[in-house]
Amino acid sequence: MKPCFIFGTRPEVIKVAPVYLYFKNQGENAIAVATAQHREMMDMMLQVFDMEPDYDLNVMTHNQSLNSIVARVMERLEPVLLKESPDIIFVQGDTTTAFTAALCGFHLSIPVAHIEAGLRSGDLYDPFPEELNRRLIDVASKYLFTPTKRAKENLLKEGIEEKRIFVVGNSVVDALEYVKSKIDMNSYRERLVALDDYILLTLHRRENIGEKMRSVLRGIAQFIDEVDLRVVFPVHKNPRVREIVNQEVGNNPRFILIEPVDYLQFLSLLDGARFVVTDSGGVQEEAPSFGKFVVVARQTTERPELIEAGFGLLSGTSQESIYKALIEASQNRLCISENPFGDGKTSERIYKITRGEGI
Ligand code: UDP
Repeated sequence: MKPCFIFGTRPEVIKVAPVYLYFKNQGENAIAVATAQHREMMDMMLQVFDMEPDYDLNVMTHNQSLNSIVARVMERLEPVLLKESPDIIFVQGDTTTAFTAALCGFHLSIPVAHIEAGLRSGDLYDPFPEELNRRLIDVASKYLFTPTKRAKENLLKEGIEEKRIFVVGNSVVDALEYVKSKIDMNSYRERLVALDDYILLTLHRRENIGEKMRSVLRGIAQFIDEVDLRVVFPVHKNPRVREIVNQEVGNNPRFILIEPVDYLQFLSLLDGARFVVTDSGGVQEEAPSFGKFVVVARQTTERPELIEAGFGLLSGTSQESIYKALIEASQNRLCISENPFGDGKTSERIYKITRGEGI
């Protein structure tokens, strides 16, 4: 079997790597194609999983627009697919890379498998452009690998045939197990921050950039000033994010602003945090494995399983709603760690299904 795995950003590598490595370990002729939509952050993640792409399309440019990414991925991916003629291509999630690769595969009549299918926020513009990407990828794919039953129901409601849908869990849990087996979290964290008690924060979503991000930061500042707590904040590389962060909290000593950290370091920070505030999708899925409560600083979430399982709340982005959510989160001490998103066997299931072996 010759599967081709296509990815371009940090979160895609995290969720594709365990599946790709599983196929490789079974002796399959798996090919890895990086688009490098986010060059640096993708590369950092590849190192964690000791992954070396067979092809690097190197599409990233300064101030790249969504349409220019689509155009470059289309143009550079097609020759690779024509040369390699894979039996199946795997895309993950909802990035512009994933959407474009799925379309490219569809045009060439190569079956597409979508890892993490069926997520929906219900609002086409939030997250933007990811909600549209997910919907389009799901329409184009032959195999829809959903993380949860709810995601499967989302697809059925859209009229997608049941025989294309497989509930397999989320491969992020496979990735977490790989990482946990590799490092000692405490010693990793101690090399980064000398703090016993802190909130971990990540903020970067396109639709939050601007006033929403400012009010989230103000709500957090209000809370931590009152309770005298620190926030550890790896700041995304996006220059627009950096500008806002520096203006709002650059001079606040309770905010420990650091460069994006590698995945192992990030998980060690998550492991040591009191709780997490984030607008990231992936972090919402990782926190339960560490028994951490999540304040989702967004208007919508495509991962309601987190909230239903009691692991988080959707705070919105106004200063007042963030402030209130932080009060609630600080009273919520979790210690259980059964992750509603998966059991670490997702890669094995995907392998067996695509080999026609059933689950
Ligand atoms: N992450 C990381 N280093 C950081 C911040 C986040 O490795 O400094 C990881 C985090 O564990 C999560 C992923 O990056 O798995 C999330 O990526 P991002 O927030 O860019 O995308 P999203 O999850 O929103 O798609």
